[in-house]
Amino acid sequence: MRAKDLLHPRPEGLYCPPGDFFIDPVRPVDRALITHGHSDHARSGHAHVMATDQTLQIMALRYGENFAGATQVAKLGEVIEVNGVKVSFHPAGHVLGSAQILVEHKDCRIVASGDYKRRADPTCLSFTPISCDVFITEATFGLPVFRHPPDTEEVARLIKSTEQFPERAHLVGAYALGKAQRVIRLVRDAGYDRPIYIHGALAKLSRFYEEQGVALGELLPATLEKGNKGDFAGAIVVGPPSAFADRWARRFPDPVASFASGWMRIRQRAKQRGVELPLIISDHSDWDELIETIAETGASEVWVTHGREEALVRWCEINGIRAQPLHLVGYEDEGD
Ligand SMILES: [Zn+2]
Repeated sequence: MRAKDLLHPRPEGLYCPPGDFFIDPVRPVDRALITHGHSDHARSGHAHVMATDQTLQIMALRYGENFAGATQVAKLGEVIEVNGVKVSFHPAGHVLGSAQILVEHKDCRIVASGDYKRRADPTCLSFTPISCDVFITEATFGLPVFRHPPDTEEVARLIKSTEQFPERAHLVGAYALGKAQRVIRLVRDAGYDRPIYIHGALAKLSRFYEEQGVALGELLPATLEKGNKGDFAGAIVVGPPSAFADRWARRFPDPVASFASGWMRIRQRAKQRGVELPLIISDHSDWDELIETIAETGASEVWVTHGREEALVRWCEINGIRAQPLHLVGYEDEGD
């Protein structure tokens, strides 16, 4: 079977005609297989959703219990038949519950990896390379300029800054699903045991991570009331990036604006956003991780999606791997 007949893009998302299902559709469909809980991949309103148990629970937390007509848990590694097509979910190392989806039919194996990273993350299972004929890779940071430094170094700079500026609140922008909990866990692993203050938008998901066995230490609500400004002197306050643009952030004492994202590699971006302490911490693969992963899957063909496709397509061609960009629309990259 030709790979294109097993999976190809449609306006709703990546479609499997023989299985009659979509992977991470951006519009409501009858049957959706979902790689992870970020809002650009996991949307509400599908008739039937298959995903890992953690992803289903995350969707319920974000959209309410009735986010789909029916749900089905995909256990990691378990092969499930959908209209005669075999599908299985495997860890992607991106956020809690994230999975790559292997689609197999008539001797053709395609892995849709969703978003993924390769470095160790104490808040989720590590990516497992799956051998396949076609590997579908993201390319959020698909340029050789993107090389993420060790996250321990980035977190050490944050903690050092709280020691250097004990009178200033350190406001760390981090996406609500995955990045925030990872940053908090890394700060704990670096030996920081003071309370960490969180914006209300992070409360439910952080509690869910804790229930799933990711200890985050003492978390307190970052609520400002008259007279308690001093409580935040030298403190680490974590909130979603959007919160830092509004009045909430301006009430903290002389804040140090920080932001944890792979984009912080680009100084200009940090400057534009008024970020004083950029932390290069990403839940996506950097250039080295992308090319290492493509090689490890042994795929003879690679489809490159959401991001900077051209450089990675070129790299594949030079290395004797057929490659092409896969034009999928509607992915905004909630968790870079
Ligand atoms: Zn994601």
